[in-house]
Amino acid sequence: MEKADRTKTGVIFNIQKFSVNDGPGIRTVVFFKGCPLQCRWCSNPESQLPKVQVLWDAKKCVHCFHCRAICPRQAVSYANGRILIDHIACDSCMECVKECPARALKSEGETKSVQEILDVVMQDEVFYEESGGGITLSGGEMLSQPYFALELLKAAKEEGLHTCCETTGYADFKIFEQLLPYLDLLLFDCKHWDPLEHLKGTGVINERPLINMRAAIMAGKDVLPRIPVIPGFNDSLNDAAQMARVLKDCGASRCQLLPFHQFGENKYDLLGREYSYHNTDALHKEDLEDYRTCFVQNGIDAFF
Ligand code: SF4
Ligand code: SF4
Repeated sequence: MEKADRTKTGVIFNIQKFSVNDGPGIRTVVFFKGCPLQCRWCSNPESQLPKVQVLWDAKKCVHCFHCRAICPRQAVSYANGRILIDHIACDSCMECVKECPARALKSEGETKSVQEILDVVMQDEVFYEESGGGITLSGGEMLSQPYFALELLKAAKEEGLHTCCETTGYADFKIFEQLLPYLDLLLFDCKHWDPLEHLKGTGVINERPLINMRAAIMAGKDVLPRIPVIPGFNDSLNDAAQMARVLKDCGASRCQLLPFHQFGENKYDLLGREYSYHNTDALHKEDLEDYRTCFVQNGIDAFF
């Protein structure tokens, strides 16, 4: 296989060590910044923009407007009691973050090379060996920076690591198939069985994810479809039966159900964005037993 380019850089927003929920064993999870989907319930909304960005904390701000005065790109404005950052105009110079007297601004995301990430990941090599763990690429979405993901996966394989991704599968197949040889396990998000409902909830139709998931299964890869169960979006028994049908059609025989939670709620405030699920109760396993059974009755081994 071709040697990895370890100088390749990308934008990430976190490296999380000792994770036990993102693939087998003990793992280090690398969170990519940028996502081609805009799921209304996203629990990592700070991951959606594919660049380093500025977050504003209303509780700390003293409304001196120094940030607005010094921004060389006129990217800072003020409306309805909030500091607003125009993320298209902003070039991530971070002058406002450095100069804010109240530390009300912070940057989210950083640029790292493949080697810099591996230096962190390999610190826990001994734990991967003992537990059957490795590296997981998450996000955001690794496919928003596919060539950075490709070099990171190649380098991880050169180090003998087990590789996993948590992915929406949203990419052109010609790109997706280049990453496949370097992935041992794909945790594949399936948001909705119906293309138009998928579009309403995420901003894109589900055609590409389904093509790519089917291809990964056909290639003999270990693929686990995962369904975030979202109230009012995909939580009916009809949704369960239809999703089971679509999964079977792609060659899957099992799936994991991820009940809706509110972990990302306060992040929307920091980003100055509306959150559609403020008053929606979290779901629990007990709420979804009929839903799970419906998958099983339709030939898919569903579990939590
Ligand atoms: S510089 Fe800091 S404290 Fe002043 S308005 Fe901007 S964010 Fe608020
Ligand atoms: S990071 Fe730079 S360009 Fe972006 S809002 Fe702050 S000062 Fe303006």
